[in-house]
Amino acid sequence: MTHFEQTEFSPNPPTSAAFSEHPPEAPSNTYSLEVVSVRHYTDRLFSFRVKRPPAFRFRSGEFVMIGLPSIAKPVYRAYSIASPSWDDEIEFFSIKVPGGPLTEHLQKIQSGDHIWMRQKSTGTLVLDCLLPGNRLFMLSTGTGIAPFGSLVRDPESYEKFDQIVLTHTCRESAELRYGHDLMERTKQDPLVGDAASQSLVYLGSTTQEDSPTKGRITQLIDDGTLFSKLELDAFDPEYDRIMLCGSLDMISDLKTMLEERGFDEGSNNRPSTYVVERAFVG
Ligand SMILES: Cc1cc2nc3c(=O)[nH]c(=O)nc-3n(C[C@H](O)[C@H](O)[C@H](O)COP(=O)(O)OP(=O)(O)OC[C@H]3O[C@@H](n4cnc5c(N)ncnc54)[C@H](O)[C@@H]3O)c2cc1C
Repeated sequence: MTHFEQTEFSPNPPTSAAFSEHPPEAPSNTYSLEVVSVRHYTDRLFSFRVKRPPAFRFRSGEFVMIGLPSIAKPVYRAYSIASPSWDDEIEFFSIKVPGGPLTEHLQKIQSGDHIWMRQKSTGTLVLDCLLPGNRLFMLSTGTGIAPFGSLVRDPESYEKFDQIVLTHTCRESAELRYGHDLMERTKQDPLVGDAASQSLVYLGSTTQEDSPTKGRITQLIDDGTLFSKLELDAFDPEYDRIMLCGSLDMISDLKTMLEERGFDEGSNNRPSTYVVERAFVG
């Protein structure tokens, strides 16, 4: 089990935002979960892990609603679970929105604090929503990498696909750090490490800062960089399955590109060749 250290990036003096010693009782259908570790990546991004309730079940790739007991008028927001369904902790990867009703408080949590999490998980970035295939592409921007942190550490992903391709696009190189760590942790993982070392490949790109791969994912697909850098054949709807998670713009541009290439959107009721989830609303 990986326990994160606090931190390379230090936010302003952290102030604990969630009651640690005597957390208020959680509302019905809601768990109160103890924070185990927090790691700040940049002034916009952090991750944290909480204890997993033994009765909580979810499918890798799903999201839940989380809130904080310390906010006078509780606000719940959707969060993708970034850890696999077998893990005994639950990991989240979060944005810090200046003045954001949840994240202006959430970014101050510390080990020993509590968060609230609704008991029901849901979502379409799950293996069940895709038809069988050979390669699984997971294309993400920003915190949209979170559900793929769950799926790349799930053995079922490697049982169902011969190759898994994870891409992550952010504005700056420092924002790619979570994905780099995820790749390292996954390849060293006792459960999926061997399979991941053979089958999982990753491409990070930046849109604003210079880096080894610069450009939006749409551009990297269009000009063939994604495929040439990773030595892959171009998309083929017969063999490839694709998951998208990012901003509304990223998703709508990619949907158009994929449908032009013969891909069709799937759902829990009707599995198909690609699936989508927005990483945030707005
Ligand atoms: C299905 C789903 C899954 C989600 N999973 C995650 C997750 O794993 N991690 C996460 O940090 N957020 C996730 N979000 C967004 C999350 O629900 C909140 O919007 C976010 O935590 C900010 O909450 P807030 O109350 O502080 O601000 P909000 O009032 O919710 O948001 C204010 C504004 O901040 C911007 N914003 C919100 N979230 C993000 C983001 N993640 N990246 C960039 N800009 C953003 C938007 O412009 C939004 O209008 C998810 C959203 C959805 C719909």
